[in-house]
Amino acid sequence: MDKKQVSDSKHFCVLPWIHMHVWPNGKTFPCCLTPYENDIGDANIGLKKVWNSEKMRELRLNMLNDKPSVGCTRCYEHESTGYESLRVNAIEIIIIGLIMR
Ligand code: SF4
Repeated sequence: MDKKQVSDSKHFCVLPWIHMHVWPNGKTFPCCLTPYENDIGDANIGLKKVWNSEKMRELRLNMLNDKPSVGCTRCYEHESTGYESLRVNAIEIIIIGLIMR
């Protein structure tokens, strides 16, 4: 994806490529906004396995194809009300701000 595709996308997010959010019980999420019922795995089986899990790969593929994912509904809701979501904020800071200048 180039800079324009990233900034025009309604569903791409950089966080699943650089980040995971793990609860003390091991339940793991692509970020802190993902609803509890939409975890991507259990860190007790190993973070590398969760990082490369089917759910995580499907999430990334959806993002690359600009398709919505159920675990990201909070960002879509924020954006639908005009609020700058964590998704947009992360793209601006990490991709557009630092890497693609
Ligand atoms: S789109 Fe939102 S909910 Fe989904 S991983 Fe990115 S910041 Fe988290």
